[in-house]
Amino acid sequence: MSRTASGELLWELMHPDDRAWTPDAPEEYHGLHLGWQRAACVPIEWHRRTLPAVKIRVCAHTCECMVIVYELGAYGGKYLIRRTTRRAEGDRVVETDHLGAKDIGELWSRLLCGLAR
Ligand SMILES: [Zn+2]
Repeated sequence: MSRTASGELLWELMHPDDRAWTPDAPEEYHGLHLGWQRAACVPIEWHRRTLPAVKIRVCAHTCECMVIVYELGAYGGKYLIRRTTRRAEGDRVVETDHLGAKDIGELWSRLLCGLAR
């Protein structure tokens, strides 16, 4: 899959409001909020981040107004989801395995609609 094609796939999964994909569309609205966790929700396997953290290119993230922020990041040709829980004693950061664009896109959309956490 080409870089652009996977970018479009991820964009469509992350922006279900029918806006056309462009490489530099502005993210000027309130960020993504997760849907309520559903009965069929399955647990995501989170791994404690090993330091130093790898620098990811953030493709999408949930709204900064929440205590827990999820980021979908690209790293070394793969993708991962990073979950940061803000706490008074310091952020707690965990990540998924590194996955291909299709798998991470599915996991991200399941996370957003409450089918995986
Ligand atoms: Zn918000």
